[in-house]
Amino acid sequence: MDSFTAGIALIVTQLCVAVVMAGISYATPSEKCTHYWMLSEILIALGVSMIVANAGAPRYAILVIANNSLIWGAILQWWGVQTFYRTPVNQLGWLLGAVFFVLFALFLLTDARVTSRGALSSATVLSVFLCTAYTLWVRAGPHRTFGNMLALGALALLAMNNVFRIVALTRYSSAVQPGTTSAIGVTVLYLVPLAGSLLYAASLLLLYFERVLGENRHLATHDELTGLLNRRAIVAAGERELTVALRNHQSLAIAFVDADFFKKINDELGHSVGDAVLCELAQVIKMTCRDVDLVGRYGGEEFCIILPGVSAENVSLVGERLVRAVRQYRFCIQDPVSVSVGLAVLAPGDDDRSWTNLIKRADDQLYRAKELGRDRFCIAPNEVVRRAAAAAVATA
Ligand code: GH3
Ligand code: MG
Ligand code: MG
Repeated sequence: MDSFTAGIALIVTQLCVAVVMAGISYATPSEKCTHYWMLSEILIALGVSMIVANAGAPRYAILVIANNSLIWGAILQWWGVQTFYRTPVNQLGWLLGAVFFVLFALFLLTDARVTSRGALSSATVLSVFLCTAYTLWVRAGPHRTFGNMLALGALALLAMNNVFRIVALTRYSSAVQPGTTSAIGVTVLYLVPLAGSLLYAASLLLLYFERVLGENRHLATHDELTGLLNRRAIVAAGERELTVALRNHQSLAIAFVDADFFKKINDELGHSVGDAVLCELAQVIKMTCRDVDLVGRYGGEEFCIILPGVSAENVSLVGERLVRAVRQYRFCIQDPVSVSVGLAVLAPGDDDRSWTNLIKRADDQLYRAKELGRDRFCIAPNEVVRRAAAAAVATA
């Protein structure tokens, strides 16, 4: 491919990417990162167009605008990535942009070799790419997504291309200048940047959509106030755990936890204090449970806990631990807070071992705990529970 055709292909690609980014930015008015990415793609498309169009007869003003557009395009892309990861934009970007502007102007004024200018541009873009890669690497946390890896891969490709160009400029200068006729030059100057910037832009969009999807999934399965699983998710998880327990002949328990006299807290201290107490209560319950337990807000001031592996022999320990943990916790209000707990165990001898039956039995016990005076737990009777209770009485 000759350099003119490759140059046109690069311009068309950059313009298309800029249009897509403009569309995403328009569709997400509250997202700062997509605005940064749109601006960066517009600047890169402008810079690339000017460099390619200016290849035959370099004019200094156009060279300055084009090269600075490319550098600022890369810097804005970096700032977009930082904004995406909710970190403040790094002021080093201003410094890199300013240093490049001054040095590039000096190179032009002193008629420095064209290879020095090319090396300066490539080195500056390379520094910005390394900063962006650092942000992508550090901010992704333990769950690296495909979008994050693709962005790192695209940056690695573009960074290596720039390193190659810097080295090549010092040895075969004319081969890696705009207007080159060599195949390597066309590849380094146009084809790799074309593929790299396309991949990079696609990875940024992917990163964004991964986040939107993740947030939507979280909203669909979690309670907004307490952050616990919502009713739909805890029921779905409970039915799944029940099926697994039945198939593997394992034990399973379920607990319903209801705050005592919660209406009084709301009436006396207001709904916002009630909300704060609910959040604290959710945390206490969560902290009291094991990692394998599933904790959800069933509705209002009522929580549901699925306890895989908990059998009739040790279910009372769970009830005791829950009631005691809430009783001993220092809430944000002066008045003591307590809970009543109803527990039921999946027992091998029970006729009806459905999810509906299990929650009904736990719910009945919750009402019994309320009737018996609250701040306590009750366990649904079945053969094994009765035997365990009798054994406990015998040894007492
Ligand atoms: P009991 O010991 O019998 O459970 O008494 P209670 O007052 O806790 O029960 P009741 O069902 O009479 O009242 C539950 C209260 O929980 C009433 C409702 O306003 C409050 N509530 C439910 N959801 C929320 C919430 O999201 N935030 C706040 N602040 N209050 C809530
Ligand atoms: Mg209540
Ligand atoms: Mg209730």
